Amino acid sequence: MKIGFIGLGNMGAPMAANLLAAGHSVIGHDIAARPDGIPLADSPAGAVSEADVVITMLPDGPILRQVAREIYPFMKQGAIHLDCSTVDVDSAREVADLARKHGLLAADAPVSGGIGGAQAGTLTFMAGGPAEAFGDLRPLFEIMGAKMVHCGGAGAGQAAKICNNMILGATMIATCEAFVLADKLGLSRKSMFDVVSTSSGSSWSMTAYCPAPGVGPKSPADNDYAPGFAAELMLKDLGLSQQAAEAVDAATPMGQAALGLYRRFVEEDAGRGRDFSAMLPYLADKGRPT
Ligand code: NAD
Repeated sequence: MKIGFIGLGNMGAPMAANLLAAGHSVIGHDIAARPDGIPLADSPAGAVSEADVVITMLPDGPILRQVAREIYPFMKQGAIHLDCSTVDVDSAREVADLARKHGLLAADAPVSGGIGGAQAGTLTFMAGGPAEAFGDLRPLFEIMGAKMVHCGGAGAGQAAKICNNMILGATMIATCEAFVLADKLGLSRKSMFDVVSTSSGSSWSMTAYCPAPGVGPKSPADNDYAPGFAAELMLKDLGLSQQAAEAVDAATPMGQAALGLYRRFVEEDAGRGRDFSAMLPYLADKGRPT
């Protein structure tokens, strides 16, 4: 398959490299990054004009919309635009409408699994868009990921991603604050992990990504909270969840509280560049109220 790949940053570059390694023809474009080993075009048009599928992996919705406006006039009729960025639901739907007007198919398929998953080709894709796009895309999902769930029409992938990450942000904070309380009650972190990881308070944040170092499976906490999944990316996803909740008048009090805490952690304290599980030492240094 001929693939154009726009946005070759931390995630896009290894995803493009895996498609190349599997034998597809890939031409990439990025305004700044020039990763080794990926054939590059100097312009967005040069990367997309011959492509059957164009994949984008970009920072946010406004940039996605700008890139879509730039590339759609140059794409082949019937070609597919697969956007894997995490963006707001409205941008995903707007881009899908624009694609239709240009005689193109568009799918939104944000990922979970992070940079490690992108490198290993084990990402999970949550996808939205017309069913006819997915036959051609399926082999590409199999190379870049371990699982793809087709969640519905345009924007459904982004909706699934922000709902998942809203749960993740809230459960990580709940897990961290429980460790802080346990510390102050004289309970060892090992006992906390052993009990909670097999009890009703367990979640992925405790069992797979424990925010306390030295207990549980290896996680960013064991590497001085180097990301992993950076706190500013969690802040971005919580912001998208609350933007969407606002737009549809959904009550999400835990998501709202999680957004407020991550905003303070990243913007006012030393959270930027740390893993999102560094919420544990952040809360441990505070007393009441936070
Ligand atoms: P990144 O900043 O490393 O990469 C984005 C790339 O897009 C950069 O190389 C940038 O130069 C390029 N870019 C920006 N504007 C452009 C334009 N107009 N034309 C062409 N290229 C342009 O970010 P990333 O970590 O690779 O994340 C990409 C997306 O994946 C984001 O939406 C992020 O939320 C999502 N995501 C990231 C992770 C993660 O762990 N890093 C996990 C899941 C999802």
